[in-house]
Amino acid sequence: MNLERVDAVVVGGGISGLVAARDLARAGRRTVLLEGRDAPGGSVRSHTVAGLVLDAGADSFATRSGTVAALVADLGLGDRICTPSPTGAWVELTTGPHPLPRTGVLGLPAHPFSTDVRDTIGTWGSVRAAFDLVAPARVGAGADTLGGLVRARMGRRVVDRLVRPVVGGIHAADPDAIALDAVAPHLAAALPGARGSLARAVGTVSAAAPAGSAVCGLDGGIHGLTDALVADLLAHGGDLRTHNRATAVHRTADGWRVDLVNGALVAEHLVLAAPVLTGLPGLDEVELDQGAQVTLVTLVVDDPRLDGAPRGTGVLVAPGVEAVRAKALTHATAKWPWLARAAGPGRHVLRLSYGRGGDQATVLPEDHGELLALALADASHLLGLPLDAGLLIGSDVVRWTQALPRPSAAHRDAVAQVRAVTAELPGLAVTGAWVAGTGLAAVVEDARGAAARIL
Ligand SMILES: Cc1cc2nc3c(=O)[nH]c(=O)nc-3n(C[C@H](O)[C@H](O)[C@H](O)COP(=O)(O)OP(=O)(O)OC[C@H]3O[C@@H](n4cnc5c(N)ncnc54)[C@H](O)[C@@H]3O)c2cc1C
Repeated sequence: MNLERVDAVVVGGGISGLVAARDLARAGRRTVLLEGRDAPGGSVRSHTVAGLVLDAGADSFATRSGTVAALVADLGLGDRICTPSPTGAWVELTTGPHPLPRTGVLGLPAHPFSTDVRDTIGTWGSVRAAFDLVAPARVGAGADTLGGLVRARMGRRVVDRLVRPVVGGIHAADPDAIALDAVAPHLAAALPGARGSLARAVGTVSAAAPAGSAVCGLDGGIHGLTDALVADLLAHGGDLRTHNRATAVHRTADGWRVDLVNGALVAEHLVLAAPVLTGLPGLDEVELDQGAQVTLVTLVVDDPRLDGAPRGTGVLVAPGVEAVRAKALTHATAKWPWLARAAGPGRHVLRLSYGRGGDQATVLPEDHGELLALALADASHLLGLPLDAGLLIGSDVVRWTQALPRPSAAHRDAVAQVRAVTAELPGLAVTGAWVAGTGLAAVVEDARGAAARIL
């Protein structure tokens, strides 16, 4: 059989695969990017609701390393970078709504006695959290989960009222099921220099970050990044093939063969930007986290009472709030000024997110109408305003599976095994959220590194 031969194959057309393929194509390699679904972008894609083009998954990027902003500028989109409205977010606790403290990493406060932290965890909670500043480094050092470490150093209230809602919102995971070095390696790296203090380590990480907002978006939506990467990849001769799922990869005498549902490709170089491990020696048995199931319900409502953004940019929900099943609400038109302009006065985009993962798997109604009614009831509770179904002018439901690998210790060890085995295989690089962790900042940096290693 005569197989098609190219210089490089990249498997997985999410942001990591797009970034790696673009770098390879720009360096003159004949590159094919294989995407299993009907469109590229992975978790960074759009949907249209009530005539508004919205982000269906990710809506922002962390500015911490500057890598995403540099890529965006390189793609000619620098003037579209925008910051979210500074109104801040809220957290819904069993005691009611509280403003979410502004400084922090994963909800961990840098200043346990600041007013906003005290408002949320109470004076006793702040006193207990401040123990972290004087406790010897051995306190919590033996904990194998983020939750265990924070409970030992800062107490239960910081875990339950700050870290659990934030980690549930971002990673769809529970702090008692994830490891600090897997979820926030930069924070784990700062701990020894902070003599074991989480608050001081958060301060170090925050001080090292660029001035300004910790996250940014793109005017028009972050899915503009996908469009720009695809355009640049194609402009440099790259070949994007959707509906092309890779089923296995095999080392050959002079490179790699990638098996597809229909056919195969051979190449000197292979980048795995999706977890296709079938055919790789020593990795058949490796167990990566499959990721939580997350359901996003987007509602577009005409209700001028929301112009005042009663809960700022949105609300994270602590487990145990019985009146609400959502884990988070984003008031997208309050968060992004460009979207408020596009929607017009009185029209609002609300996005409810369901699915914490772990033991608190959320059971949702299968009936579409019932799911919308639940989302409307949850939004009413979280915003403190009864929203009338008659004001709903559009909605959409997007279900994400396998998109958010939970950074547990077991997943971290499995990734270490994948990295160790693949580092020994010539012409192969692995990248993407499945190895680099969740978030555009993590995956863009890792994907550029993967392409650079191949080049
Ligand atoms: C709902 C949601 C909201 C998020 N919000 C944010 C946010 O605001 N900010 C942020 O920084 N991050 C956010 N993230 C995380 C961020 O979007 C991801 O970490 C990042 O986009 C992952 O990119 P990736 O390319 O590694 O993986 P993915 O986006 O998962 O892409 C992988 C691609 O590979 C394809 N694929 C898989 N297997 C195969 C195969 N065998 N053959 C061919 N193709 C295959 C898939 O179809 C997919 O398109 C969010 C994620 C989700 C799900």
